[in-house]
Amino acid sequence: MKSEKYSYNPFETAQKQFDRAADMLELDQATRDLLRSPMHEYHFTIPIRMDDGNVKVFRGFRVQHNDARGPAKGGIRFHPLETIDTIRALSMWMTWKTSVVDIPLGGAKGGVICDPHHLSPHEQERLCRGWVRQLVKNIGPFSDIPAPDIMTNAQHMLWMLDEYEVLVGDKYPGFITGKPVGMGGSQGRMEATGYGAIITLREALKELNIKPESTTASVQGFGNVARNAIELYHRMGGKVICVSSWNEKDHCAYSYRKKEGVDLQELQTISDHFGGIDKIKAQELGYELLPAEAWLEQEVDILIPAAIENQITAENVNRINKKVKIVVEGANGPTTNEANSILEKTGVFIIPDFLANAGGVVCSYFEQVQSNMNYFWEKDEVLAKLDAKMTAAYIAVSDFARFNNLSMRESAYVISVNRVAQACRDRGWV
Ligand code: NAD
Repeated sequence: MKSEKYSYNPFETAQKQFDRAADMLELDQATRDLLRSPMHEYHFTIPIRMDDGNVKVFRGFRVQHNDARGPAKGGIRFHPLETIDTIRALSMWMTWKTSVVDIPLGGAKGGVICDPHHLSPHEQERLCRGWVRQLVKNIGPFSDIPAPDIMTNAQHMLWMLDEYEVLVGDKYPGFITGKPVGMGGSQGRMEATGYGAIITLREALKELNIKPESTTASVQGFGNVARNAIELYHRMGGKVICVSSWNEKDHCAYSYRKKEGVDLQELQTISDHFGGIDKIKAQELGYELLPAEAWLEQEVDILIPAAIENQITAENVNRINKKVKIVVEGANGPTTNEANSILEKTGVFIIPDFLANAGGVVCSYFEQVQSNMNYFWEKDEVLAKLDAKMTAAYIAVSDFARFNNLSMRESAYVISVNRVAQACRDRGWV
């Protein structure tokens, strides 16, 4: 399994980031107290009859951080090392993400401590249904709308929807997002996060007066976000010269470089569902096989970390090539706070994660709207609406950053926390 878990307490990190924004906004104590902790937390057990006839008890969670701006929204993770603090942090980050792109939703996150690799499809189905049974009174299409996340997929969402509709006794396709296209899913959801990241990059390049076709990039990861980001970036005229991915067999990551530019389609034919690239075939196709961190040492204009968290750290940040001008954080939390400060000092322009990768939740919101109407848009329409939302969010953050002499991350935090705080005040909560 990939090293997906945090080596620090993510909730403490999220609270520190919030405290900084709260200081900049000079928030009063009550608003700080309200936003520093989740509104609701549900911890529960899920007893499951396993295929061998025995009952196994799993632990599940749902954390609703804030719903002042609209129903809470966030994914459900299935992970053997899941912790309540990870879920708390992610629920808070969801509140800021939905706020920064100005969609009428709040933030939530959920999970179950389990390893789906070791569960049969029937056991997974029972687990999904059990999760919904424990929460049916506390979630719903107008209060808290779940979605897929690590190791959960469209099939899991459909089982959860079915259980909810059986329990409630009616059809509520807007109860959950990430459903399969044709069963209430939205066109464009697969592309949304990677495309969204490149839309923010396109706007940054405009602002910095750089032509996309004159740029090169290096990408960490070759999964959903990375592939779609590479596709749109290539269509804009840029050239990716290096990608990296996790190799399950060797239990380490490698970077793959082709100086004349990687061929997305060719790499897709030699990669698996999990975004792992076949290193032998890659070499046969003329890719240089390099160590894991080589992706960040390349002489390129743009770095796109789109794999996992904590990848640009105080230890490796100085290995980033001096030519790099922009970092687009496709992944959640790829840059540690220390590395972020160093990069900002050297003048690197960082498009922060909760803005750069918000395309996914924007499209989930579109799915919820379409499901509630039971009328589905063509892919072009979804992608045009995605572009409009991401562009508007980018411009708002960048204008505010420029006028107030803030970094993009500080600006994004101030804007999003301020919107949520204002909604709490408008409702008379504080
Ligand atoms: P994915 O599982 O499809 O792909 C992950 C990729 O990262 C794979 O290619 C894997 O080989 C690679 N990888 C894992 N560990 C690595 C390492 N140590 N070094 C190099 N490569 C490594 O995941 P995804 O959906 O593309 O998500 C990527 C990131 O984006 C995650 O941080 C996720 O939380 C974030 N994100 C995803 C979405 C979405 O809609 N998919 C939305 C918002 C944020």
